[in-house]
Amino acid sequence: MLSSSKNILPLALVLVLVVLVLFLNRREPVPPPEEPPVVAPPALSILGEMPDWQRLEIYQDTIRRADFERLLGDVFTTGSAWRSYIRIGGNEAVFHTGLPAPDDVFTLRFAKPGKEAPVPRRWKVGAELPPAPDGRPLDGLHIALDPGHIGGEWAKIEARWLLVGDGPPVKEGEMTLLVARLLKPQLEAFGARVSLVRKSNEPVTPLRPDSLMDLAADSADGQATDASLRKLAERLFYRTAEIRARADIVNREIQPDLVLCLHFNADAWGDPANPQLVPESHFHILVNGGYTEEEVMLADQRFAMLEKLLSRTHDEEAAVGETVADVFVAQASLPPYCYPPDSANVRQVNGHPCLWARNLLANRLYNCPVLFLEPYVMNSMPDLPRMQAGDYEGLREINGKMQPSIFREYAGALADGLAEHYTRVRSNRKGNGEAGP
Ligand SMILES: [Zn+2]
Repeated sequence: MLSSSKNILPLALVLVLVVLVLFLNRREPVPPPEEPPVVAPPALSILGEMPDWQRLEIYQDTIRRADFERLLGDVFTTGSAWRSYIRIGGNEAVFHTGLPAPDDVFTLRFAKPGKEAPVPRRWKVGAELPPAPDGRPLDGLHIALDPGHIGGEWAKIEARWLLVGDGPPVKEGEMTLLVARLLKPQLEAFGARVSLVRKSNEPVTPLRPDSLMDLAADSADGQATDASLRKLAERLFYRTAEIRARADIVNREIQPDLVLCLHFNADAWGDPANPQLVPESHFHILVNGGYTEEEVMLADQRFAMLEKLLSRTHDEEAAVGETVADVFVAQASLPPYCYPPDSANVRQVNGHPCLWARNLLANRLYNCPVLFLEPYVMNSMPDLPRMQAGDYEGLREINGKMQPSIFREYAGALADGLAEHYTRVRSNRKGNGEAGP
């Protein structure tokens, strides 16, 4: 036994040495030969356009790194997927454009503290307006009113139609136009110039569901049925094409200082001809922000998010929105609407109970501050009878209480909220001795 183990020992040592040498000289597996790079088109939203990243050139040296990081992390994004597309360095941020090299990145230089270049914008900041003439706090402002949805014969297709009992059908698109018509003269009396984005219960876009069937077929999966393709074409019509057409009007024709998107909120109602009613009404205002991980991955949405951030609409939206919300909930006695804490597509703004950031097509595409109003709940017991009652002067007994027309309450509260905000910021300016253009 001993002699045989003596013979084996040097052999085992040699074997260990050989394995050791092989181990130390091991190579990484040879990678397969590289495929020639395939230039994939950037992922875009449906009907989205390839962004022109050079448009961000005007924002060089306008924002400090700390402000950029705050807005990006606290307002405009909800997750961390943006880190794959936006790299923040000490003096600059690098954005992935989704385009082939050499245009695959855009570099934005941060401003040195105290040396920020002025932010180029064609809308007016409230706090920079000269003091207002007496009783005209909105003097010099151009406000666009965007009555949400379409109404009329389109109300059922856009699923903003409900019928309860013997009452008339309630159509959001018609109610929002009514509010816009009531609001316009009130804002004008406060000195504003006012434009309506939509003036009738007809679509602004020339496209119709029929003309979008091919696009629906292209963007649907293999299992789509005729009925589901029709639904998709309808959604592309009222949700996508219609809002993009309105954005063209806002950005090319009206070019306002502020857009108010007028809506009525609703909770899930099931069958519109026999809707489920809920006991509570509520109120909130949306501003742009809260881009989800999927949205940041799309080149057009990533670009729009950065353009919004850099054009500094957010601070203006938050400032106007907070006062409008405070005045609205006080006048209409509405409780705030609170999103569930785990919502992946929303950020609360400045801790205000009624102010939330979400990425909607309208507040993303309109190139100026946008307040997206969501007061009242169409299928709620307190609000529905007021909507069914239609517009009227004075007070009427509804739900056992003497109440004004819900449409006049909406318009009045919104006008008063705006008047209060601009009165405050413009008189502050007077107090600072910085008056005058
Ligand atoms: Zn709506």
